[in-house]
Amino acid sequence: MASSKAPLHFSFGLIADIQYADHDDRMNYQQTQWRYYRNSLNHLQEAVYTWNSEENRNIEFVIQLGDLIDGRNFEKGGTSESNRALHVVSDAYKSFAGRIHHTWGNHELYNFTREQLFKTSLYSSPHRATSDNKIAYYSFTPFDGYRFVILDTFEISLIGSERGSPEFNKAVKILKNNKNEDKNSSIGISGMDRRFMAFNGGVSEKQLLWLDGVLDEASRNGERIIISGHLPIYEPATESLCLLWNFDSMLDVIHKYKCVMAYISGHDHFGGYAVDEYGVHHVTMEGVIEIPPGSNAFATVDMYQDRMMLRGYGVVASREMIFPK
Ligand SMILES: [Zn+2]
Repeated sequence: MASSKAPLHFSFGLIADIQYADHDDRMNYQQTQWRYYRNSLNHLQEAVYTWNSEENRNIEFVIQLGDLIDGRNFEKGGTSESNRALHVVSDAYKSFAGRIHHTWGNHELYNFTREQLFKTSLYSSPHRATSDNKIAYYSFTPFDGYRFVILDTFEISLIGSERGSPEFNKAVKILKNNKNEDKNSSIGISGMDRRFMAFNGGVSEKQLLWLDGVLDEASRNGERIIISGHLPIYEPATESLCLLWNFDSMLDVIHKYKCVMAYISGHDHFGGYAVDEYGVHHVTMEGVIEIPPGSNAFATVDMYQDRMMLRGYGVVASREMIFPK
């Protein structure tokens, strides 16, 4: 445990896969877990209340790890229902005293096109999206010496991209690795190939190069980096079915430098945790949508000089993560 004398630098919140919808509870696709579409809003409200009232600390910001509203909204009533659901959820977190950083998941793209997302509150980048420069990934510095990276793990994907666009065509090519007609089906696919699903996505060369530049600069400035994206990138912290298509290229970039302390994701509702061979902590947050009333799934992370202390609520396990040297 961090010594009580170690100064706390700052704190932030984490929450994943809220998937709110005005929809009756249903089993998940594997018929193994209930999904509580309406109640997920109560879980979010409880998280916001907790963050606002944590003793002796200000929660500077929250990273919403994607899938904030469920694709069922769009199925039910098109974009107007998606907008309505987004409004309901935004109302629930607007009392949060700090800033919310949103990562985009598959459900954001079931509800909105990428073009539309840039115009919603889910576009949390400090940069203005111009017509010829629409980029959802960015970094920010909440405290001297720490930089946070928000990735766009669906930059290359079948969902949300305009048919015929270079990103769409690239996704079609990558998904040829999945021989099933239904590209969301993993029947007959084993090992790491299970990641080639239409509900996953990948990052472009351009995003990888950008990340390389951020990490290079951070290394030279002695900054510590925490990366967040909806999709996990390290199989021991999740399962192959949920991985970023080009997780290996992403790990290669991260492992070139010693500045990355942790990679935090959502998407895999069961959650997970593992440390890779370079000492980078991989945290997959449990999904709120499958948490029954009476429990929850969110966390507050306290940052110290040499470690981060993740304090879990509900099903999320608390853990101390020592920064790699
Ligand atoms: Zn997801």
